[in-house]
Amino acid sequence: MTDPATCIADVRSAIDRAASTADRDPASITLIAISKTFGPDRIKPVIDAGHRHFGENRVQESLAKWPDLKSEASDLTLHLVGPLQSNKAREAVALFDVIHSVDRPKIARALKDEMDRQGRKLDLFVQINTGEEPQKAGIVPAEADAFLDTCRLDLGLGLKGLMCIPPVDDHPAPHFALLAKIAARNGLSGLSMGMSADYEEAIMLGATHVRVGSAIFGARTAKPA
Ligand SMILES: *Cc1c(COP(=O)(O)O)cnc(C)c1O
Repeated sequence: MTDPATCIADVRSAIDRAASTADRDPASITLIAISKTFGPDRIKPVIDAGHRHFGENRVQESLAKWPDLKSEASDLTLHLVGPLQSNKAREAVALFDVIHSVDRPKIARALKDEMDRQGRKLDLFVQINTGEEPQKAGIVPAEADAFLDTCRLDLGLGLKGLMCIPPVDDHPAPHFALLAKIAARNGLSGLSMGMSADYEEAIMLGATHVRVGSAIFGARTAKPA
């Protein structure tokens, strides 16, 4: 198995090249190392190599490993990229710094209440179901503008941007372009899009946050939820 610290350096170089091709500042692209299913033995070397942004898709799994790992470095940023249940909002707000999966009014409200209660301000992304897949989380494109208004005007939530996970069998580019278009017309600058197979393409289409797992940590044996 290749060492994840070496792999992440390669991914960072590829990001810098893609940014340069797209005439973008590489510093405007945050690489989130998605460490779901991997244990501290795989994650620590990446922290030691100086990487600071990590992502997980399950609150429960994160609670089991990140409180300890967070003590490895005081300036880690932890991203939740998977679904959030409102009964986990309290723990999620306490542990994470960024949530990419705001996808319904009930969650937006629960996050707002918890951030107020805990005096913490997280960066929030709204997940858009660009492929309108029934089994997938996210707001469908036709309802995006109204939901963003609900978050911002009714709840007073500051939003960082939008996130999508294109359908596995589709070419991702039209989904990335659609996400960028919805963000632009709503005045949002953050675009969380692109994974191991397509992060360079996402950067061409404006990604500000790429979520890369297997290209850094290797193939996952445990199936993620
Ligand atoms: C697992 C996961 C990723 C990373 O996927 P890879 O293909 O391993 O890079 C990115 N985003 C989300 C939401 C994920 O659940």
